[in-house]
Amino acid sequence: MRIDGACHCGTITIEGEADPEKVSICHCTDCQARTGSAFGVSIPIPGDTFRMTGEPTTYLKTTADSGNPRLQAFCPRCGSSIYSTTPGEGRQASYMVRVGILWQRDQLLPKRQNWYRSAQQWVTGIDAIHKNQKQA
Ligand SMILES: [Zn+2]
Ligand SMILES: [Zn+2]
Repeated sequence: MRIDGACHCGTITIEGEADPEKVSICHCTDCQARTGSAFGVSIPIPGDTFRMTGEPTTYLKTTADSGNPRLQAFCPRCGSSIYSTTPGEGRQASYMVRVGILWQRDQLLPKRQNWYRSAQQWVTGIDAIHKNQKQA
């Protein structure tokens, strides 16, 4: 399906073709730190359909758990997490784009959870937490 989106401030926009069956949650501690939250939600966009405007800032993070170096891209202005990919020059084979920046996020339901061993223990019981329909 066609997906597109933008960071929180609009400096970075991205678009591409992605398979909604490939949406995943990542509970790894790197995703907890980069989101400032409990987990990341991402969808891979093949490199040949990936388009972007704006220039993200990047850094290389070697994930402690997997040992794989990943290039992490963020908006330099608002700090939104945009994607991660394999390090290297030019277009990469795939970009793991953050679902929260996509306009289609309501249609992109996670199909699997990875690194569940580092999941925050409260995420399984989130439905039991008191809910306010707007800010309390
Ligand atoms: Zn931004
Ligand atoms: Zn992760």
